[in-house]
Amino acid sequence: MTDGFVGYRSQLVETLQGKGVRDMAVLRAVATIPRHLFVPDPLRHQAYDDVALPIGNGQTISQPYVQARSCELMRLTGRERVLEIGTGSGYQTALLSMLAESVFSIERIADLARHAHEVIRALGLDNITIMHGDGSLGWRPNSPYDAIVVAAASPAIPQPLVEQLAPGGRLVIPVGPRDAQVLTLVTRHREDTGYESTPVHDVRFVPLLGQFGFAGTG
Ligand code: SAH
Repeated sequence: MTDGFVGYRSQLVETLQGKGVRDMAVLRAVATIPRHLFVPDPLRHQAYDDVALPIGNGQTISQPYVQARSCELMRLTGRERVLEIGTGSGYQTALLSMLAESVFSIERIADLARHAHEVIRALGLDNITIMHGDGSLGWRPNSPYDAIVVAAASPAIPQPLVEQLAPGGRLVIPVGPRDAQVLTLVTRHREDTGYESTPVHDVRFVPLLGQFGFAGTG
């Protein structure tokens, strides 16, 4: 993408590398996707800072480092079918579109889902399907997924998401109470239905609401 923000994107890539992001495909996606189009106009000058920003409806676009690290943890090769819960701005959805074969993304706030869809369509990213609904249930008709990423804090690992993972599939999800969570990598075993869960690092996300999120708040 050639625009006035190329230099800012390169700086962000350097910041992410400095923080330990190594996956070249992820860094290439960050260098390509115009993040400023995914934040509200008055905040454009901050779009390439490594911070979370408000996007309206009480939600935030996550910190670039957390988004890049989540993408990296999925170890995508370009051939996967990926499910994202919490489209929000649609920026991480756009990164994923460069890293996987197809991306399904669910957002519970209709306005955000619509806006993300418009920005993504304008960019010509054509392997993304966005749905308005409760992502804590997953999206069974398109399952199984090679990778699932949840961009909102969950009190526990939602069972439907584990069930919708393909054997060997990877789920990245912030797990914990509302005020602090641990970004967790869940890997479904290849041979059976069991899975393994590994804590990665401390994070703070907005809550996952809905049936398998924070109870009774969706
Ligand atoms: N990846 C997004 C993160 C947005 S914040 C970005 O960087 O822009 C998390 C998003 O999850 C919010 O937009 C919120 O509305 C959404 N969300 C919360 N609970 C949800 C649920 N049960 N289903 C789908 N989306 C949900």
